[in-house]
Amino acid sequence: MSRTDGLDAVGLRDVLARGDESVEATIAETFDRIDAVDPRLHVFLNTERAYAERRAIELDRARAAGEPPGPLFGVPIALKANMCLEGFESNCGSKILAGYRAPYTATFVQRLLDAGAIPVGTTNMDEFAMGSSSENSAFGPTRNPWDPSRIPGGSSSGSAVAVAAGLVPIALGSDTGGSVWQPAALCGIHGFKPTYGRVSRYGLIAFGSSLDQVSPFARSVRDIELVMNVMSGADANDSTCLDEPPLEPEHARDPSSLAGLSVGVPQEYFPSILEVGVRRAVEAALATLEKLGAKLVPVTLPHTEFAIPTYYVLATAEASSNLARYDGVRYGLRVDGDGSLQGMFAATRAAGFGAEVKRRILLGTYVLSAGYYDAWYGRALRARALLRQDFERAFESVDVIAGPTSPLAAFKIGEKTADPLEMYLSDALTVPTSLSGLPAISVPCGVVEVDSTPLPVGLQLIGPHRGDARVLRVARAFESVTEFARARPPRMLDARGAARGGRA
Ligand code: GLN
Repeated sequence: MSRTDGLDAVGLRDVLARGDESVEATIAETFDRIDAVDPRLHVFLNTERAYAERRAIELDRARAAGEPPGPLFGVPIALKANMCLEGFESNCGSKILAGYRAPYTATFVQRLLDAGAIPVGTTNMDEFAMGSSSENSAFGPTRNPWDPSRIPGGSSSGSAVAVAAGLVPIALGSDTGGSVWQPAALCGIHGFKPTYGRVSRYGLIAFGSSLDQVSPFARSVRDIELVMNVMSGADANDSTCLDEPPLEPEHARDPSSLAGLSVGVPQEYFPSILEVGVRRAVEAALATLEKLGAKLVPVTLPHTEFAIPTYYVLATAEASSNLARYDGVRYGLRVDGDGSLQGMFAATRAAGFGAEVKRRILLGTYVLSAGYYDAWYGRALRARALLRQDFERAFESVDVIAGPTSPLAAFKIGEKTADPLEMYLSDALTVPTSLSGLPAISVPCGVVEVDSTPLPVGLQLIGPHRGDARVLRVARAFESVTEFARARPPRMLDARGAARGGRA
């Protein structure tokens, strides 16, 4: 079996020179590219070259000994810096965890390793996954390969750019409110958030536990399916994990026809803040779905406007509780302060957390506090139920829902940092789905020209609970008749390691 069997040409083959070269050579090339590109784009917080080389040699030996290769044999992958692999630094983009090396390996990472994948490092992210642009990373932002003066989206910024810049064919992000499919849209790649619970969260450092979900980036739907099938499935270490069958059934059908499928188009997903170019690209994409045989049906998701406030109550409440563990005793940074125990807690957290994380801990503590709990947290839970019902009603009459992934294309670094509320709006079209635990993918669907720079636009496809395979089937049909997934950042076109253009 060739090393690239089962992996799409636009995915792995783009990175590998020859399908049957040694894994060792693949890893050497991968690091050449990382060395050339990373200084400009700041993708990784940590690379693990010695580890990757050791694993490559082991895999080459196993192949020579006739062992059957796993489905991700020799594939270099990048992990977001909130994922645990024993010995890798997972600092969550935070000073409080700088230098923290995971003492154990996440279930989903172990499954990737068992399938033959080679983790090459941990990627930059908004601190504790709180943000939409990577500007909340304590270690400086990642840059968008389409225009390095712009943000790549977030919070899984480094993983998105690792794939968009062709450093690795597959990278993992985590999604709490859009952190994978929003950066996928802004970087012109695929990002898939599965149904909540499809992938074990054991070994994913928590932000909002009722929302967090491990989610992959890739350059083709086929690669997304492959990595999902490797990672999914029950895990005794995560009781919220579903025991779902592999994603295959709906893919066996003719991928080039959507006859008989109805696509709901929610009016609320075309708000006035939508950038004109984004609207145009998404409307054209909807017309393509129609040409493939799908029927477009207007639907309404009437509580959409409450999604952002609901999310920022619930996610901050959960974060304030999850982040209580960073107290200077068990993990990472310790600052002695006035010498008392309380003083050490306070000094450690004051020095270790950045402004956005502190803002969210304060907000989350407030909404959970006695006297305010029901007015804020209880109410937000009720609003979450209404948002979920909106989707349930819509899915009574349609198979999938489609719209723009992000209301805006990539914006300039620094453009929105002064106003957190404006930054929160970039999640307006992703958080309703996250709050409802539904599967969604962003697929590249066009470009918008801003200041004569082409910037990618993403089409989001949302499915009903456990409708992951259906979402991927529609995405695959769209991908099969369009060229957008093959577009590369212009400055990356000579990409085999040569760093050309792109003033950072
Ligand atoms: N941008 C959203 C936030 O800041 C979502 C982040 C995420 O999905 N991790 O919380």
